[in-house]
Amino acid sequence: MAEPKGKGEQQPEDVGSDDCLTSYTHIYSPDLLKDQVAFITGGGSGIGLRIAEIFMRHGCHTAIASRNLDKLKEAASKLSAVTGRRCLPLRIDVRQPESIAAAVDDTLKEMGRIDILINNAAGNFLCPAASLSFSAFKTVLEIDTMGTFNTSKVVYEKWFKDHGGNIVNISATVGYKGQALQVHAGSAKAANDAMTKHLAVEWGPSGVRVNTVAPGPISGTEGYRRLGGPRSEAAGIFQSIPLQRAGNKTEMAHCTLFLASRASSFVTGAILVADGGSWLTSANDVSMLLGYWSSEKKRDK
Ligand code: NAP
Repeated sequence: MAEPKGKGEQQPEDVGSDDCLTSYTHIYSPDLLKDQVAFITGGGSGIGLRIAEIFMRHGCHTAIASRNLDKLKEAASKLSAVTGRRCLPLRIDVRQPESIAAAVDDTLKEMGRIDILINNAAGNFLCPAASLSFSAFKTVLEIDTMGTFNTSKVVYEKWFKDHGGNIVNISATVGYKGQALQVHAGSAKAANDAMTKHLAVEWGPSGVRVNTVAPGPISGTEGYRRLGGPRSEAAGIFQSIPLQRAGNKTEMAHCTLFLASRASSFVTGAILVADGGSWLTSANDVSMLLGYWSSEKKRDK
């Protein structure tokens, strides 16, 4: 376990880079996902990579799928070396159903089954609505929302329809209060939260559970860096969050593991908010965020 930060429970171990953990203490039974197979979009980096690692540390084999095959291959060899489970790197673009279909066929050929689908792939950045191009808004909706539908539908048709399975979507809380500079991500994830319920209703009778984890600010991720996490941390902004800190990737993986496993066997259509209470109390200050956004833009130039 990591050293406790302030009061409260200890956080589980994490590392800030896209590397595997240097140590890990099981909270759940190490056999919880024994010999199951998980298909994880965006599993080569950030939260998705840690989900893959934690699942593999619980006996699961994985297929990790996104656009950058070199990154996926490197991640897959690290993950297999540390956990001794199989990890198949697969190139897909969640906007292209045929690329998903080919990757799902490869997974079924190589691994023989799929038990779990994690819809984690997303694109994110800060941008005021007035400066957001039509195409940027569309792209985020295409990756986050249509990507989640495309992947769920392909996996359902090719396997879950006849065998059952578990879908966990990775959402966000930015839409709950209309977080400034995030109309694209907030709209996309709100649609996904509705999709979680629609698919839970329609696919429950086939033995498919559909749930969501909605992370708050999570350290050691591209999302955190792009959304100003390190600067907020330095400015003490996390003091306003009930749990007074950012979350870590292992915490998100533990929430996902709960929803993807038989630990939650009677749960479907649920959204598990895992944000330390952040959205309840954090500021939604347009001028402060606009100031941050323009200074970052200047730095990029
Ligand atoms: P990340 O490392 O950038 O993960 C996003 C992943 O999505 C990448 O591995 C990327 O891989 C993949 N991806 C992007 N576009 C794709 C496409 N068209 N097709 C297939 N894969 C694609 O960021 P993260 O911060 O860990 O975010 C993971 C999830 O958590 C996201 O759903 C995000 O919205 C959510 N979340 C994160 C935070 C946070 O603080 N980090 C907070 C709330 C919610 P390629 O580049 O190889 O395609």
